[in-house]
Amino acid sequence: MEIIDGKFVSEQIKNELKWKVNKLKECSIIPKLVIITLENNAATELYIRNKKRLFNELGICIEQKIVDVSIEMNGLLKIIEDLNKDNTVDGILIQSPVPDRFNINELFEKISFYKDVDGFNPINVGRISLEMNGYVPCTALGIMQLLKYYNISVKGKHAVVVGRSNIVGKPIARMLLQEDATVTICHSKTVNLKTYTKTADILIVAVGKEKLIQADMIKDNVIVIDVGINFTKEGKIVGDVDFENVKKKCSYITKVPGGVGPMTVVMLAKNTIDSANKRRLGV
Ligand code: NAD
Repeated sequence: MEIIDGKFVSEQIKNELKWKVNKLKECSIIPKLVIITLENNAATELYIRNKKRLFNELGICIEQKIVDVSIEMNGLLKIIEDLNKDNTVDGILIQSPVPDRFNINELFEKISFYKDVDGFNPINVGRISLEMNGYVPCTALGIMQLLKYYNISVKGKHAVVVGRSNIVGKPIARMLLQEDATVTICHSKTVNLKTYTKTADILIVAVGKEKLIQADMIKDNVIVIDVGINFTKEGKIVGDVDFENVKKKCSYITKVPGGVGPMTVVMLAKNTIDSANKRRLGV
């Protein structure tokens, strides 16, 4: 069994990104991301803290726009519109969750797709589905980079994705399909999850339920990517996989923390830097 070390791989990618940021700085360009936040909880605070730490380390500008939760749709659209027009802003991100009265997809749609570094604007979703250039959601991109780093080919393998969210499940399923895996997507209404997970060569779990995946639900030598982030009563961060028992049967497995999480933030930095290069230098 080998641990897929997202922290280590993200460090390697960081070095490449630092080089790209320095090249932009030579042209007096500092990439900039703006995060719009409406509601905060322990998870979003952690995500934002991690993003700020990495962006500061890379020398990329990151700004958090804390918006009052009572804001009306028009007010929020005006904020997005102003950021779309601001040439110094390369990336705009709306941190979920947002209050129920907002349809988050409508908000994503308003972000210029040139600045949609999270890859959730319908234009980017469509372009990626059609295998055209566009921003790929960061978690899916990070998982594909991890597999690539460990020379794990997905071609012809049965990949089972547990979770069908627009943020993780669907984008990773699409990317695996594009790389010639045979893909099954499971979700909350799937009957007898174990029937499917047992047949996986690659199992990607993005649900948000501690210990959802147990050792008896997988076959030997499976590759397990645990995307879940759960907070235990003791305040510990754990994934969706019963790591200690599952790892004994795996050929590869990610840890939580230190697996997919560090890759997601690094991919966000990558997309922001790419946006600065494309928008401001046309490269
Ligand atoms: P979500 O709540 O939008 O989606 C959860 C999915 O799990 C849904 O599609 C649902 O159908 C499915 N599901 C729920 N219960 C299930 C069950 N018993 N069996 C099978 N499927 C079930 O969540 P999300 O945004 O996709 O995030 C999933 C998890 O990944 C969360 O823990 C989140 O914190 C974490 N996450 C981690 C990263 C990272 O970088 N590591 C990034 C994004 C999300």
